[in-house]
Amino acid sequence: MVKTEDYCDECKKKINISVQQTVMNQRLRWSISYICPFCSSMIESDDIGFPPDDIRQLILAEEGEYQLFIKQPELNKVKAVKVLRDALEISITEASNILKLFPKPIVNGTKIEIFYLQKLLECEGIEAEVCSLG
Ligand SMILES: [Zn+2]
Repeated sequence: MVKTEDYCDECKKKINISVQQTVMNQRLRWSISYICPFCSSMIESDDIGFPPDDIRQLILAEEGEYQLFIKQPELNKVKAVKVLRDALEISITEASNILKLFPKPIVNGTKIEIFYLQKLLECEGIEAEVCSLG
């Protein structure tokens, strides 16, 4: 969980909020939550998919950046492109371009995102390795 500062929706005071990224039912999710110490208003909100970029940057700054490598020399590209397209909501061209990086790391992202992608690839029988950038 990552802490950051934002403004309370109700009283507009600056407060601490928590940001969390998870995987639930094989979908990537992210959520923010807070209890305002000034007016006691509570927010618990979550959404499916990748978080907005500012929230993603917070998570990356806090937890570090991770990379995904595909290990197989003879890769099933059709399957891999499909997994990347579905997971990242990108076009076939973009997914193919990502795979052209092989055997370099194919994607960078947050810990949760990269482990999520690894799991999706694994379901299609594609072996991938997660690597921390520290
Ligand atoms: Zn408040």
